[in-house]
Amino acid sequence: MTDCIFCKIVSGAFNTPFVYETEDFAAFNDINPKADTHVLLVPKNHYESLNDIDDENLLGKLLMGVKLTAQKLGLKSYKTVINTGKDAGQEVFHLHIHILAGNIKGV
Ligand code: AMP
Ligand code: ZN
Repeated sequence: MTDCIFCKIVSGAFNTPFVYETEDFAAFNDINPKADTHVLLVPKNHYESLNDIDDENLLGKLLMGVKLTAQKLGLKSYKTVINTGKDAGQEVFHLHIHILAGNIKGV
């Protein structure tokens, strides 16, 4: 999806540093952090939201990716948020998991 900002980030269009990366996922800092640490973990393939993924294996890997990203960042205590759909506050329609730690203001 060419006009998707997260697809562009994942493709390296802006040379965004990844704090965690696998074949399937990448994690990078949120541009408008709502906590001391605010990272977004995204699948490299485009899915608009959680409603558009049917692959249980990929979903399991995504959650494992949360844990490993947190571990890599040295976080022991953190909050994860997935906004699904406009009414729930989703603004970027490429599935992402917020990982927040320290002085969390909420997303
Ligand atoms: P959501 O409301 O769950 O869709 O969250 C979208 C998140 O993406 C917000 O926290 C934004 O600050 C973040 N965001 C938007 N554009 C960028 C970008 N170019 N790089 C990093 N984070 C972004
Ligand atoms: Zn995308």
